[in-house]
Amino acid sequence: MANNRTFTMLKPDSVEKGNIGPILEKITSSGFRIVAMKLTQLTTADAEAFYDIHKERPFFGDLVTYMTRGPIVAAILEKDNAVEDFRALIGATNPAEAADGTIRNMFADSISENAVHGSDSDENAAIEGAFHFSGREMF
Ligand code: UDP
Ligand code: MG
Repeated sequence: MANNRTFTMLKPDSVEKGNIGPILEKITSSGFRIVAMKLTQLTTADAEAFYDIHKERPFFGDLVTYMTRGPIVAAILEKDNAVEDFRALIGATNPAEAADGTIRNMFADSISENAVHGSDSDENAAIEGAFHFSGREMF
């Protein structure tokens, strides 16, 4: 994946609250093209692997429970400067600190249940996209 792609998940709280449509509308109207997308559910092993970097953090157990409790929407998105622009669109990890109009400001409840994931680097975007999608599922 080149530097024009990022990876996102609409987390279980977004699916539970019926926010798939409104969040995808924000994403596409902000200039991101959907390259790949699916409704899926993380296993405990999936979530532990995906968030391995946080395994020593106090919130790790709760994070794995949250991320596996129901379906998510996984997607690869394309846009110039995708990783940085998508992080700007979703806002700060803590929705209380996320700027007005950002996805987390609009749709997230707390620093733990914060509606969406966005890759933090081109390298991780490629790893995370490949975690969910094969080449023939990318358009
Ligand atoms: N998280 C949490 N408590 C914290 C920090 C993070 O529950 O104090 C959760 C939250 O769901 C966050 C995820 O762990 O999105 C990954 O944390 P990270 O610092 O990578 O934030 P992000 O990159 O998602 O903004
Ligand atoms: Mg992160």
